[in-house]
Amino acid sequence: MKTIAIIGGGITGVTTAYALAKRGHAVTLYEKNRYAAMETSFANGGQLSASNAEVWTHWSTLLKGLKWMLKSDAPLLVNPRPSWHKLSWFAEFVANIPHYRRNTIETTRLAIAARQHLFDWADAEGIDFDLKRRGILHIYRDKAGFDHAGGVSQLLAEGGLPRRAVTPDEMRTIEPMLAGSYYGGYFTESDSTGDIHKFTSGLADAIVRLGVTCLYQQNVTAVTADVRQAKVTVSSADGPHTAVFDSVVICAGTASRALAASLGDRVNIYPVKGYSITVNLNDEASRRAAPTVSLLDDATKLVTSRLGDNRFRVAGTAEFNGHDMDIRADRIRPLIRWVEQCFPGVSTKSVVPWAGLRPMMPSMLPRVGRGRLPTVFYNTGHGHLGWTLSAVTAEMVAGTIDQSLGTAALRPSVLQQAQA
Ligand SMILES: Cc1cc2nc3c(=O)[nH]c(=O)nc-3n(C[C@H](O)[C@H](O)[C@H](O)COP(=O)(O)OP(=O)(O)OC[C@H]3O[C@@H](n4cnc5c(N)ncnc54)[C@H](O)[C@@H]3O)c2cc1C
Repeated sequence: MKTIAIIGGGITGVTTAYALAKRGHAVTLYEKNRYAAMETSFANGGQLSASNAEVWTHWSTLLKGLKWMLKSDAPLLVNPRPSWHKLSWFAEFVANIPHYRRNTIETTRLAIAARQHLFDWADAEGIDFDLKRRGILHIYRDKAGFDHAGGVSQLLAEGGLPRRAVTPDEMRTIEPMLAGSYYGGYFTESDSTGDIHKFTSGLADAIVRLGVTCLYQQNVTAVTADVRQAKVTVSSADGPHTAVFDSVVICAGTASRALAASLGDRVNIYPVKGYSITVNLNDEASRRAAPTVSLLDDATKLVTSRLGDNRFRVAGTAEFNGHDMDIRADRIRPLIRWVEQCFPGVSTKSVVPWAGLRPMMPSMLPRVGRGRLPTVFYNTGHGHLGWTLSAVTAEMVAGTIDQSLGTAALRPSVLQQAQA
């Protein structure tokens, strides 16, 4: 049995702990908050969406960013104040544009491979997370958006995901409550939605049952390592306390970059802020008027999920503004307006706003695997798809750790199975 520390109790840390504990390792998870999933894994869009696997490294993203630069309610907002981090990230983002096609196909494969693990884990551990397996409908207001989606569909198909074009009439049949006029849509039947916070919390209970030591309210102030071991230091009332492990896995969301740098690794994650609103459907009329099928509106870049009977989540927008967690009224207002326009029968009297920072790599692919040292591993940088990809990347990193520590079982890794 090997001792492994995990830094971070969001979706990536908790799924990694689960995959490692299932393999028989002695796992300790450090989380600075009092509970699991209190940061980016708290109130996201809820989509388990292979159909959203298109990476953003495309010239059209940059052009839109420039066009929206001075519009405070635009879906994409970049603070023009330069910083070395932002400049280096954008330079790498541009350098990844030639890999748009390859990275979109790879992300699709990963998202499909992730699905069954996540459902199996929820079944095995009895986790109710408001799962809805009713598909995701992408909606387009103009021909240009719809035509671009046709090209994306081909890449998704190469990654193994079928989705079909639908007419405005078919869209109304799929989601009768959607108001407004649209050019067309794409429907992915196999996609689903759920509450990331409920799922991660349920799995955090499960890892305790599997013997994982979960250390909450423990702020990791230093991680050091050499070729034999890793040391994790936390601050406490009695002063710093250090524990020694065979290896460490960094799953610290937007804090992973600094921890990696201290270990001699470059993991160029930028915090890309997004917002969500959770509309409480407190009356019967609102519950009837809210959609049950998940949507992605291409023009506004908003995604939706119906969470149980009583909650409707709308999320999106991307803001490049450093580690800023402010919830800005001018960024929340367009989300509420969108609900009022697309679902006029839904009351917006009770709306809970939230902001979170996506841990985004410039390639848009997560960093999964070994670091410079054989005792250091990463499962982080999942950007806009951390919930969708989490189960497969947890399996991948656990498989890599097994191999590195010489504890590999005689089973093929998930990625090998996905690629077979
Ligand atoms: C608006 C919005 C909508 C989104 N919608 C979707 C969606 O529909 N589908 C989807 O798949 N993805 C979506 N995402 C992305 C997804 O939510 C993220 O990729 C995912 O939650 C990131 O998980 P994580 O574990 O990497 O980070 P986090 O959830 O942030 O977890 C990292 C944890 O590490 C802890 N930590 C950091 N430093 C330390 C330290 N020094 N000591 C101890 N603990 C530490 C933090 O407290 C935190 O709990 C969305 C994101 C946003 C912002």
